[in-house]
Amino acid sequence: MQIVIAASECVPFAKTGGLADVVGTLPPELAKLGHEVTVYLPFYLQARQRLQGELNYAIRSLTIPFRYYNRFAGIVDGGKRGGVQYYFVDCPELYDRPELYGPRGGEYGDNAERFGLFCRAVVEAAKQLGVPQVFHLHDWQTALIPVYLRTVYAADPALLGAGTVLTIHNAGYQGWFPPATTEQLLFPWEIFTMDRLEQYDRFDFLKGGVVYSDMLTTVSRKYAEEIQTAEFGNGLEDVFRRRAADLRGILNGVDYSRWNPETDRHLAAHFNAGDLAGKRECRKDLLHAFGLGAVEENVPVIAIVSRFAAQKGIDLMAQVADALASRDVAVVVLGSGDPYYENFFRSWVFRHPGNVAARLSYDEALAHKAEAGADMFLMPSRYEPCGLNQIYSLRYGTVPVVRATGGLDDTVEEWNAETSTGTGFKFLNYSSEDLLAAVDRGLEAFRNQDGWVRLMRNGMAQHYGWEKPARQYAEVYEEVAQKRA
Ligand code: ADP
Repeated sequence: MQIVIAASECVPFAKTGGLADVVGTLPPELAKLGHEVTVYLPFYLQARQRLQGELNYAIRSLTIPFRYYNRFAGIVDGGKRGGVQYYFVDCPELYDRPELYGPRGGEYGDNAERFGLFCRAVVEAAKQLGVPQVFHLHDWQTALIPVYLRTVYAADPALLGAGTVLTIHNAGYQGWFPPATTEQLLFPWEIFTMDRLEQYDRFDFLKGGVVYSDMLTTVSRKYAEEIQTAEFGNGLEDVFRRRAADLRGILNGVDYSRWNPETDRHLAAHFNAGDLAGKRECRKDLLHAFGLGAVEENVPVIAIVSRFAAQKGIDLMAQVADALASRDVAVVVLGSGDPYYENFFRSWVFRHPGNVAARLSYDEALAHKAEAGADMFLMPSRYEPCGLNQIYSLRYGTVPVVRATGGLDDTVEEWNAETSTGTGFKFLNYSSEDLLAAVDRGLEAFRNQDGWVRLMRNGMAQHYGWEKPARQYAEVYEEVAQKRA
């Protein structure tokens, strides 16, 4: 089948979070299954730096009309990698910037135009370079593609057979813009109603995608259920419920060629379930990297690697911070984002310099070191559509302590010392007491090293590769093709 995947992030070209990992890994897996896959991405500064040498344009200039002016976008041919064709939408005045979405976790003021243009350019480019049977879109940034296809382009004979799948990686980000966006992007005003794109007088990109796509997926089974409730739907719960028959939960896989303690190039030593000796080395290396070299041998190390956003449960961490640091543990924190949370972590380190350390940056190598060198990984998210870090943790023998929500609930099973089953520690209520109790269950289990090794090995035996999700997506594409036939 011919598939076009359009997204705003993709490893190795541009990344701020898990979306990039998914879009980097799914297409080659689909290609392995025999599908013909093309990926479209904005030609950000980050991507430009990745593509070395002379740029090769597949299309020199597409005219993208707006209300009072035209913009012109080129399509850069990124070539084939892993059996997948990559194209980049080039519009330097919109994408040639230091950040993907905005400075310090914020938004650029013209994001509606940046991603509106991207959506329309993908449709126009596909008409020249190949209309697929299915457009597979990801999150709000690409959610207008189904809207264009079923409104402005509805009569275009070249696009008639093309179906659409929208994957919701995070319903907390919807792309909200003023009503005038409707006109600016040249949509008819009829679509600005509560049953289509309007959300309380805002133009809502994601809602448009949810209403107009043939099929919808989310990145875990649990999250597919959760978004149909007021707590997680972020205002779209009714629309998700309306589309429930077309909604599937497909858990993300992870790229074990990059996240494997046996081969990871960022580690001081390698290890596996049969030979854990290298993990000691990794622990030492991690503590050293965080300036905690003086922490004693048998003290458990807790790692936090996170985007600093309200979603990640940092307010819960703040409530238990001092109680946690007063236990016999070392804590290493790697993350960046909201300055308010960055300040919390600074103050935490300031109060407990002997056993809490933080690196407030984005650092790929250190993220790998944290997964490998820690004993426990803390992820108390308010909501978590899938979450990748806890899946990496499992493979690295680092026991996850998580809130039972979304993909965290789907991938972590509570440890039971009596039966020696389970892979981590979970708590359900979004409460600091329950978080601390889960950590304490972990610390208690850590005291029995035989049981702990068993717990680590249970996690290391889990397999969340891409083979199964790729097959599940292919099934969804089939469903879409049948709907459009
Ligand atoms: P989200 O996409 O919501 O941020 P995920 O758990 O799905 O959360 O994915 C996070 C990804 O980003 C993981 O690959 C993780 O290692 C990476 N990551 C997050 N923060 C950092 C950081 N400060 N430095 C390096 N990698 C990070």
